[in-house]
Amino acid sequence: RARQLGRNRVEWYDAFLEEQLVRRMDLERELPGAVERGELDLVYQPVIALEDGRPVGVEALLRWRSPMLGTVLPAELLPVAEDLALIDEIGRWVRQRACRQLAAWSRLGHDLWMAVNVSQRELAAPDFVSTVAATLAAHRIAPERLVVEIAESRVAADVPTVVTQLAGLRALGVRTALDDFGAGQASLAQLRRLPVDILKIDRALVADSGDRRTPSKPLIDVVVSLGRRLGLEILAEGLEATAQVDQAREAGCRFAQGHALARPAPAERVEAFLAEFHTPSV
Ligand code: C2E
Ligand code: MG
Ligand code: MG
Ligand code: MG
Repeated sequence: RARQLGRNRVEWYDAFLEEQLVRRMDLERELPGAVERGELDLVYQPVIALEDGRPVGVEALLRWRSPMLGTVLPAELLPVAEDLALIDEIGRWVRQRACRQLAAWSRLGHDLWMAVNVSQRELAAPDFVSTVAATLAAHRIAPERLVVEIAESRVAADVPTVVTQLAGLRALGVRTALDDFGAGQASLAQLRRLPVDILKIDRALVADSGDRRTPSKPLIDVVVSLGRRLGLEILAEGLEATAQVDQAREAGCRFAQGHALARPAPAERVEAFLAEFHTPSV
């Protein structure tokens, strides 16, 4: 009986591994050419100013609409893109599409910033800063309107390159953000070294642990005051409940994102959302 159970477990484990392996092979087969086939897509999540509840920016988030595999999320797509050395091509597509969308919204009179995510690997490309400059110029976008987000949890080795590239972006006038702050390990040291303008507090810090002994409030208060002392703008991300929004506002966060405020959505839906706030300047 015990032996039977053990055997079932092994089989279950094998089946699980096999499934993972097959999935990975599917991704590796389909991802090359996805850009050319027009399968990549962006959704946008509004950034809200907590003082008046108005949208001040949007963050572009990558989606892969694969006819074979369905919609694939960044968590699954990005590691494959990096391994197959497709990340630079995909990143360029993301920044072009995001800038095109920003220009379109700007023509409609929406005064927004656009945030794009980059991996450390993308940032390490020697021509990264110059291609960003070219993309901005092609769409006639003021550099201040672009925010480049780099995830703290993924900045580890090779930090000098990251520092140089972020500094290069800022020299252009582009703003930089440290994403997922508080989810990684070397947070404080990183914060001192990286030339960033915006601190995005990870939802892990904002979430209610459900345990009275570990409330999130003291942590948020400390991070906000620290960020302020360093002259950073503070954005709380991943707010899922109204109470979290209130808490972020009370702690002094200026900006916020999360399902409680606005979910990531396709451009048309975001455009409708923006229109609700728009007062024509006539
Ligand atoms: P991120 O930049 O921290 O983006 C926030 C993630 O949290 C997004 O997941 C978003 O859909 C999700 N989110 C937003 N509000 C809430 C909320 O209230 N609750 C919860 N539970 N989740 C929320 P997504 O779109 O799956 O992206 C995951 C990560 O993938 C991003 O984290 C970012 O690091 C990376 N990523 C996304 N797009 C790109 C891209 O174009 N290039 C690169 N290099 N990385 C990207
Ligand atoms: Mg981000
Ligand atoms: Mg984040
Ligand atoms: Mg994240």
